[in-house]
Parts: sequence; C-alpha cells; structure tokens
Amino acid sequence: MSKIAFIGLGNMGGPMAHNLVKAGHTVTGFDLSADALKALEEAGGKAAASALEAVTGVEVVVSMLPASHHVAGLYLGENGLFSQMPAGTLVIDSSTIASDTSREVGKAAAEKGIKFIDAPVSGGVGGAKAGTLSFIVGGSADDFAQAKPLLESMGKNIFHAGETGAGQVAKVCNNMLLSILMAGTTEALALGVKNGLDPAVLSEIMKQSSGGNWALNVYNPWPGVMEGVPASNNYQGGFQVDLMTKDLGLAWETALNSKSSIPMGSLARNLFALHAQKGNGALDFSSIQQMFAD
Ligand code: NAD
Repeated sequence: MSKIAFIGLGNMGGPMAHNLVKAGHTVTGFDLSADALKALEEAGGKAAASALEAVTGVEVVVSMLPASHHVAGLYLGENGLFSQMPAGTLVIDSSTIASDTSREVGKAAAEKGIKFIDAPVSGGVGGAKAGTLSFIVGGSADDFAQAKPLLESMGKNIFHAGETGAGQVAKVCNNMLLSILMAGTTEALALGVKNGLDPAVLSEIMKQSSGGNWALNVYNPWPGVMEGVPASNNYQGGFQVDLMTKDLGLAWETALNSKSSIPMGSLARNLFALHAQKGNGALDFSSIQQMFAD
C-alpha cells in the first residue's frame, strides 16, 4: 500500500481519492475548498493545510485540477512542488490540460529526478464514483508500469498512449469526436421531431441503424427518452458545457501546433462556446440539444 497525496478534490478528484482510500492506501488531500477536504476526511483520508504539507513524506502525488495554469502553478517555479519534492516521487496528473503543458511539467520533473505521467480520464463523475474510469497515459513504460496498479484502484481501462503528453493528445481527440457526435445526434433528433417523429422511436431506429453511436446508446440528449441521464434531469450533473468548451479549445491548440485541419471540431467548438455564452456553461454538454429544439 502506498502513501499518496491527492491535490484537487472536486467533482472528479473527490471520488477518485475516496476510491484510493477504499483500496487501502493512505491518502492525504489538499483542495482550496473546505467542503472537499471535509468529504475526504469523512471517507477516511487526511486533510492537509497546503499542497506542500500534503506531499510531504509521500511516494506518489495525484493531481486533478481544472486547467493548464493550475497544474503549471502547482508544480513549477520557485514555490512549485517540484522544488520541494524528493527525487523518485511518482507524479500522476489526471487533469485534462494542454499537451504542451504536460510536456513542460514532465521535463521539469525529469530535471529533478521526479517521475511524471499525464493520465487524463474519460468516464465522467459516474465513472469516478464507480471506479470505472478510463485512464489515457503519456509517459515512459517504467513509470506507466509503476502507476498502473494505482490507476486500477480508480479505473477499469488503463491505456498507454505514448510518451509524455500523448495521454492529453488522445484525450482531446476523443472529446473532440464526442462533441461532434453529440452535436450531430441532437441535430438529427430535432429534425425528426420537427417532422412529426417521436424522439424515443427515432432514437431506437437510429441506434439500430448506421447512425448508431455512444450518445444514442447510453447518453440520449432528448429529455425523457432515457432514464438516469442528465437530459432527463434538466441537464444537471454529468460533463459541463464549460469543460467541453475548454477541451475543444485544447483540440484547437493541438491542431494549430501541428498544422492539422479540424473543420468539424472547429464547428463544434463554436457551437458549444455559443451555447455557453447563452448562460448554459454549467449544464451537461448534452444540453446542446436546446440549440436545435424549440
Ligand atoms: P472541479 O472544478 O469539480 O474540481 C477541481 C478542484 O480543484 C476544485 O475542488 C478546486 O477547488 C480545486 N483546485 C483548484 N485549484 C487548486 C489548487 N491550486 N490547489 C488545490 N486545489 C485546487 O473539476 P472536475 O470536474 O473535478 O474536473 C477536473 C479535471 O478533470 C478537469 O481538467 C476536467 O476537464 C477533467 N475531467 C472532468 C470530467 C467531468 O465529467 N467532470 C470528466 C473527465 C475529465
């Protein structure tokens, strides 16, 4: 069993840390939110007063923060954790951030003899709670092998995508595709309903036909068609429009840096950004349905 520091105990990090506690590890957490720290203590973990206090004396650090600047701010610079952590510590960053930032943080870690992998996740808050997340890892084969048993305490499918940063690249490719298929699914459902079809009947037809996809199978965006999904709960819970818009921005940056063409991803980014601007940023991303339905 390992001594683990967990930084960032939000919607995803909270339940992930709880699963590490359940697996028998000693978990010391830090978050800016007092409520998040209290929840960790209630789950059997320890609350630290600072990130530095959390990482003191641990073998592994896991971070689950919102965006690139949070991760760079945590680890880099004069007051960053890397200036205080001993060589040999394994750092697992599961935040979804720019692949360039992951590479920069990975390089700074290597200069101090610290092991670093980027390990963004797929599977949402439900997957985090159930311990069924997919981890998409970038880093060396040795560091991946060391991290794998820990990741298996929080997830089901653990992929090694390639060197540092590769986890983030694979993650944005996946989320770009997800945004496109969700927007396309909502457009098709709205077209059918406007022409007199029942959304549940149309969903079933498309599910069994060549338009079948993940949104139709497990995450139907039309309210009331499927039980237990955000669309049937006023688009509450799930994966926020703001986070999807952030990921599409990362996809756009990745495309820019590699001179790649992403016309569908760019259109999806604009649709989700427009939807967020209309005050829907905190809703689940399947609420893009509202843009196409009266
Ligand atoms: P969240 O906003 O719920 O949690 C982030 C937490 O980080 C908050 O509790 C915040 O207080 C804390 N925090 C911010 N700065 C900090 C700092 N300097 N030190 C300590 N704590 C700090 O976000 P989330 O939904 O848990 O998402 C986290 C990451 O996971 C994001 O990169 C997101 O894109 C990714 N992600 C989210 C989902 C999802 O469904 N929510 C799915 C896959 C990936």
